[in-house]
Amino acid sequence: MATRPASRQRKAARSSPQQQQQQPQPQPQSGSPTSTTTTTTSSSRLTPELSLDGPASPLFAGLDEDPAPKENVTVTVRFRPLSPREIRQGEEVAWYADGDTVVRSEQHTSIAYAYDRVFAPTTTTRHVYDVAAQHVISGAMEGINGTIFAYGVTSSGKTHTMHGDQRSPGIIPLAVKDAFSIIQETPNREFLLRVSYLEIYNEVVNDLLNPAGQNLRIREDPQGTFVEGMKEEVVLSPAHALSLIAAGEEHRHVGSTNFNILSSRSHTIFTLTIESSPCGESNEGEAVTLSQLNLIDLAGSESSKAETTGVRRKEGSYINKSLLTLGTVISKLTDGKATHIPFRDSKLTRLLQSSLSGQGRVSLICTVTPASSNSEETHNTLKFAHRAKRIEVQASQNK
Ligand code: ADP
Ligand code: MG
Repeated sequence: MATRPASRQRKAARSSPQQQQQQPQPQPQSGSPTSTTTTTTSSSRLTPELSLDGPASPLFAGLDEDPAPKENVTVTVRFRPLSPREIRQGEEVAWYADGDTVVRSEQHTSIAYAYDRVFAPTTTTRHVYDVAAQHVISGAMEGINGTIFAYGVTSSGKTHTMHGDQRSPGIIPLAVKDAFSIIQETPNREFLLRVSYLEIYNEVVNDLLNPAGQNLRIREDPQGTFVEGMKEEVVLSPAHALSLIAAGEEHRHVGSTNFNILSSRSHTIFTLTIESSPCGESNEGEAVTLSQLNLIDLAGSESSKAETTGVRRKEGSYINKSLLTLGTVISKLTDGKATHIPFRDSKLTRLLQSSLSGQGRVSLICTVTPASSNSEETHNTLKFAHRAKRIEVQASQNK
């Protein structure tokens, strides 16, 4: 989606070449009156003086001895532990992590794939966040668009990774807290944060913040693509943002007889739009820095070949097509030299086009189970991740 400043009373300024050099990739866009339902008042601007709930998160010192990958596109794999049920059923470990390589332990094969990072089953979401997400969030706060995807089959750990729970908060709550902490630590700028929450089901875009916002159109104007009529809410605290997500999740129940089936068959896109400008009256008219942070829990990537009902087959073919397009788009972004990137081939990539193109940071986190019964699906996920970013396996690891 194209980013648009909410503050219509202030003319969206285009930064001068000098300013562009000083600022990390600002992406100012002029306002589009039809694109959002946002209302913004100056009192909703966030400055460091506003008290935020909870202490500022420690900025990860000492948690990760290796530096986080800093390239534009990072591809990581996260193993979950065998579940109690899988253990009861006597499942064996078919795939395991060996450093940043994934190895198949069955059939005496020597298949091994390497990634920017592989997280073993014991790794906490906090650590995954520090390595695979934090640089995307900090970049977004500085004006660099960022997108994080959780990709994998149903029950591999996508929602655990993105949303988590009270005991183990996921990337979305950690990112929201971090964003507000960064605001507190940046006294020379004032920020405005807005959130939107969309679902794509069968290539139909629904607004999870507004039950009336069904089947929204993706439109284009000179600033890029945007979702017509999408609701955005200004948020003033992490708790406020998270309460909107909780309300959005409630809306997903509408019209669904089986929430689990629906949730595994739709993509959800939580977007934080960050607008910032230097503090103080004298800076009136200076460039507004705008960026978007998209946090995406993808539909289950399981193959739909075995599906017998027409509805399930149709869902499966939409999911396959959008995930295939996503894989192609990410691999072309990784390549960096591709001339044609097929953003238009799915709703998901189309509405993310503005965020993904250019210097936007992308983190693809692929979740897998080690369980032998899911071995082929795990293999498919690993191949998808490998196609998105080819990393050569070190000879010493490929035994
Ligand atoms: P998905 O969203 O991919 O369908 P979930 O995130 O719902 O999968 O995970 C399925 C189950 O496995 C849940 O009960 C979840 O709590 C558990 N789980 C997933 N990943 C992990 C993990 N890394 N550590 C512990 N439990 C996990
Ligand atoms: Mg899920």
